[in-house]
Amino acid sequence: MYQEIIDKMFLDKYEDRPPDGYFHPSSVSGCDRQAVYEVSGTDRTDLPDVRNIRIMGTGTDMHERIQDRLVQAHPGTLIEVKVEWEQIRGSVDAIVPIGDGYPYNYGHPEDDVDVLMPVYELQEFKSGGNWKMREAQKGPDPQHVKQARIYYAGLDHMGFLMDGIRIVYFGREDWQVIEHEVEPWTDEQVVTFLASLDNMLLHVEEWSLPDRLPLDSKGNRFWLCRYCNFRSRCWDLDGDNTRG
Ligand code: SF4
Repeated sequence: MYQEIIDKMFLDKYEDRPPDGYFHPSSVSGCDRQAVYEVSGTDRTDLPDVRNIRIMGTGTDMHERIQDRLVQAHPGTLIEVKVEWEQIRGSVDAIVPIGDGYPYNYGHPEDDVDVLMPVYELQEFKSGGNWKMREAQKGPDPQHVKQARIYYAGLDHMGFLMDGIRIVYFGREDWQVIEHEVEPWTDEQVVTFLASLDNMLLHVEEWSLPDRLPLDSKGNRFWLCRYCNFRSRCWDLDGDNTRG
């Protein structure tokens, strides 16, 4: 009885995201092939099971509680900020104003008062169990770093004044907090990233596929594949670089 009640609690809140023709930072930062499947609107072969939905839902609940408190503690904080840039769609957990703001004059001679434009730090939340928190002690996950850098570049392009990235890990068992500050991309690195998107779009046009993620050191599929909505298609139906 309770399992049913709890499953329904999370299933009712679960928001499915079918492929929609956009690049989503969570996939672009993890696997090019998954991103190509998404951006070309490929049907998914594997949907998350109810256990994964419970895990993801628990993370979402934690993040929402933290966002509520963050807004109270730091007025001017913006949460769930939509990023739309270069066929990328997604939303950032929080951007938090830092410092006094950037003095800005609109250039009208009669306007002798500069405006203090807010300068924001991007904050990306991640939650996990004990294993993930132990890994987070060693440093931020490269996928999380790339995801945050994509968001940062997008917000910068959209006109937000940005300064810094903070990736914050929250422990699901004990609410332990681990924070990592990371550098945003340089302009050259942003150009390289955009070129990688063009390369993925070429795959979409040619109906071909980038390489799969490499096998891990034990010869098993990379762990991200276990949660991928295209895993059966990717490994069983499609070829190394061709659609089945
Ligand atoms: S199954 Fe793995 S390699 Fe294939 S698209 Fe998904 S994440 Fe990428």
